[in-house]
Amino acid sequence: MEHTSIKQALDNESLTGTTVTVAGWVRTFRNDRFIALNDGSTIRNLQCVIDQEKVDATTRARFTTSAAVECTGVLVESKGSGQRVEMQVTELKVLGDSDGEKYPIQPKKHSLEFLRENAHLRFRTNTFSAVFRMRHQVSFGIHEYFDQEGYNYFHSPIITASDAEGAGEMFRVSTLDAKGPPLNDAGEVDWKEDFFGAESRLTVSGQLQAELGALALGKVYTFGPTFRAENSNTTRHLAEFWMIEPEAAFMDLKGDMDLAEGLCKHLIARVLKNSMDDLQFLDGRLKEEEATKPQAQRSEMGLIERLKFVLEDPFERITYDDAINILLRSKPYQKKQFQFPVEWGIDLQSEHERYLVEKHFKKPVIVTGYPAQIKAFYMRTNAPGDFGYSEKGKTVAAMDVLFPGIGEIIGGSQREERLDVLEARMKDMNVPAEELDWYLDTRRFGTVPHAGFGLGLERFVLFVTGMGNIRDVIPFPRFPGGAEF
Ligand code: ATP
Ligand code: MN
Repeated sequence: MEHTSIKQALDNESLTGTTVTVAGWVRTFRNDRFIALNDGSTIRNLQCVIDQEKVDATTRARFTTSAAVECTGVLVESKGSGQRVEMQVTELKVLGDSDGEKYPIQPKKHSLEFLRENAHLRFRTNTFSAVFRMRHQVSFGIHEYFDQEGYNYFHSPIITASDAEGAGEMFRVSTLDAKGPPLNDAGEVDWKEDFFGAESRLTVSGQLQAELGALALGKVYTFGPTFRAENSNTTRHLAEFWMIEPEAAFMDLKGDMDLAEGLCKHLIARVLKNSMDDLQFLDGRLKEEEATKPQAQRSEMGLIERLKFVLEDPFERITYDDAINILLRSKPYQKKQFQFPVEWGIDLQSEHERYLVEKHFKKPVIVTGYPAQIKAFYMRTNAPGDFGYSEKGKTVAAMDVLFPGIGEIIGGSQREERLDVLEARMKDMNVPAEELDWYLDTRRFGTVPHAGFGLGLERFVLFVTGMGNIRDVIPFPRFPGGAEF
């Protein structure tokens, strides 16, 4: 079957006046004459005008919401407003009926909660089709950016026998009988009997493997599913999400920040160029949603405005020390409005991150030089003169990129390349060196400065779509208590 996409039919002016065949799903059927047809290629519908005399009433009764229909006809300049062309249908086929009484998604506004419960059908709505077309644009843009920058797509494993990364709680992968697993002499589960001969889990990060790749290929990035069993029922956490982790040899923290900022801007420029229809729709959706909120909680900018703003301005780069000082002087701190305490040594909470971004700097912020005790073992220890060095305590060359509405969107660092410093740090943090001997080999044989970061795909998609819940920007969300569909 040769079909013209509805996007083509609407945009390709050379098709006007010609006969084409389109196929899609009925959005609405008005006045017994006008079918608004959508095939997912664009958020816009093609108005297909039928000749009542040629289509009998029984057939017309089948143009219910979400019925699949194929229409052939001439594309003519539209008399109605809102579209450039419409189709004068000459031939018509119902490909798949949709029982209007039973179809759960009607042409009216449904709540996002309702649509989440019907997540298998929500792609047929304007909102979700826009979100998932944009998710594609962002994903593709990530490959495009790293390819342009000379990075190799490097596939890190999903199953891992090392839990040393410490980025989060892990899911176990096992083929042992859950009811009566083999036990060792101490009466504990004998993982040697398990499929991989060792206790194995789903990865929380591909970084350690990416470092191995970077220290041979120079520049690599991973882009794959990542799993965290943390019981966080927030609007920013999933149990299964997609993470992008570039890693580059001979790159320092400054280069890492530049790469992160460059990536964010590349992706924003790409969606502004390729997704304007979807963005305009989502911008309107967000405005409606904002209007229901009290004045004080409304954001000052619309979606498209916000994207342009982030694209045009350099991100603010500050140290953790600066961040703490700003928070201590802030109104919400002095009025005791923060839920979590603020003092040197704390991990910044999302409320603190959002204050810095939304209220203080009003633009994305990159914070560097976090206290060593709250960051992973592989981050490089700062010395006097390093950006992010602090008199207050030991800091590492970490950098978090904070975004409006979201908080942390990227977490990265320059890695500790000095074997002795790294080993001492691992000992301090009780990271078992024996298990990571393969990792330490990179520091034994031709070690060099290197750096990288992790970007959560869904957090970025939240930002560019203006959606509020991370469960709405991944096709099939997995979260505590939910793995349906
Ligand atoms: P947070 O403190 O926000 O939970 P994190 O510091 O644990 O995040 P990292 O280990 O630094 O996260 O992971 C790198 C990036 O992966 C984060 O900046 C974020 O964009 C994303 N990310 C982390 N955990 C999740 C999750 N559970 N669901 C979705 N994205 C996540
Ligand atoms: Mn982080």
